[in-house]
Amino acid sequence: MDHFDTIVVGAGVAGLTAARLLSRAGRRVVVLEARDRVGGRISTDRHFPGTVTDMGASWIHGINDSPVAAAAEAFGMRTVEFTVGGYQPDSRPIAYYGPDGTRLTDAGAQAYIDDIHTVDATLRDVIAASEPAASYRDVTDAALAAQGWDAERTQRVREYLEHRSEEQYGAWIEDLAAHGLDDDSIDGDEVVFPEGYDRLPRRLAEGLDIRLIHVVTDVQWSPEGVLVTTDHGLFAADTVIVTVPVGVLQSDEFVIEPPLPDPVAGALSRLAMNAFEKVFLRFPAKFWDDGVYAIRQQGPESRWWHSWYDLTALHGTPTLLTFAAGPAAVQTRDWTEDEIVESVLVQLRRLYGDRVEAPTHVHVTDWQDDPWSHGSYAYMTVGSTTADHDDLATPIGGVLHLAGEATWTDDPATVPAAMLSGHRAAENVLERSIPIEQAWTD
Ligand SMILES: Cc1cc2nc3c(=O)[nH]c(=O)nc-3n(C[C@H](O)[C@H](O)[C@H](O)COP(=O)(O)OP(=O)(O)OC[C@H]3O[C@@H](n4cnc5c(N)ncnc54)[C@H](O)[C@@H]3O)c2cc1C
Repeated sequence: MDHFDTIVVGAGVAGLTAARLLSRAGRRVVVLEARDRVGGRISTDRHFPGTVTDMGASWIHGINDSPVAAAAEAFGMRTVEFTVGGYQPDSRPIAYYGPDGTRLTDAGAQAYIDDIHTVDATLRDVIAASEPAASYRDVTDAALAAQGWDAERTQRVREYLEHRSEEQYGAWIEDLAAHGLDDDSIDGDEVVFPEGYDRLPRRLAEGLDIRLIHVVTDVQWSPEGVLVTTDHGLFAADTVIVTVPVGVLQSDEFVIEPPLPDPVAGALSRLAMNAFEKVFLRFPAKFWDDGVYAIRQQGPESRWWHSWYDLTALHGTPTLLTFAAGPAAVQTRDWTEDEIVESVLVQLRRLYGDRVEAPTHVHVTDWQDDPWSHGSYAYMTVGSTTADHDDLATPIGGVLHLAGEATWTDDPATVPAAMLSGHRAAENVLERSIPIEQAWTD
């Protein structure tokens, strides 16, 4: 049995960042990865010739001070500006359609946007003063009630807040903690990658000892070291960094012995994997408005399909992206791709009529049934606190370290969170500070 200084479980961005930093520091590191590829929840599909589709992460949600933006630049990854990834109401031009399916006037759209900002301004204080068991529904309803608006005006913004909870965290608004969107901030422009996000993990992986198709089932730890069981045998090391998603950590297929102590165990029990899927539709011709980044509709018909993002500039062909998020993802989980696409097209035809032709290519993701993630990313269930993220990364016994998007408090559920958590885990193993830039500089 080989003995390493550190075993890293998982070759997503958290694991690759940690492994790269430790290797540069002279440590003997092995990365054990269940999939047949690196990148984890960064997954780029090039199945159809000439097309590049990011099935997992696609955005850098704000390039200012982002380690991912710095790494992408160092790796020569081309980016396209696309600042509509944070469910902002007005970051860039959006075509808004009212409940009856007709386009809102500019004045009507502006009044709606102003209402959203008014509620958001009230919401900050309501959240700060909320009870520990409050949900995002509780605080948003309180902020709405404080406005004294009529039912129709209130309902439009109430819908928006439901959609924001779903699109940002893949969770129904009553299941998300009041503080669940606190750390969801965007600093600077957002960008996407026309040649695929997967270049980032592929570059991070260069030169590392990575064992693909190695499924870890058991991590035994003691102050003397760790023993990791895989379907290809045992691996031993002085320390281990476990970066598997929360959904895997919570499953019976991944055993940690002795079990995780508090505060790690408590924090883990208050997070949950979400339901969030992407639906890409490529059309023979563009039928929507020029000059808009997104299309949104209001009203009862918007319950599932409310927002479409124009990826034409990115893909070169007329392409819309929409999300099945929260209840829509749960309820369509067992639907065929055709059923999902037909359901989306009903809504688009309500807005654009017969101009909506059948799509030529379709992609629908299925992260909920992915055995190596059990969902897209973690969200804060009612009763959790933002500190649960950092608590999850509390070093255990001087040998066991958890990392990954869910272990980072500032903008969790993102690629930067994964990268920063990998950096922190490497520093904890080395017991000294190291510059994160060493992950992408030679
Ligand atoms: C649909 C979708 C859209 C997203 N959109 C964005 C976005 O636009 N911007 C953004 O910043 N973030 C986005 N995210 C989130 C982002 O992808 C993740 O936060 C980030 O990639 C997580 O990295 P990680 O290293 O923590 O975890 P992962 O990438 O999941 O890496 C963990 C690795 O562990 C492996 N593993 C699991 N179980 C085992 C096992 N038993 N044995 C061995 N290996 C195992 C997995 O295969 C995986 O490779 C999105 C995610 C999804 C799914």
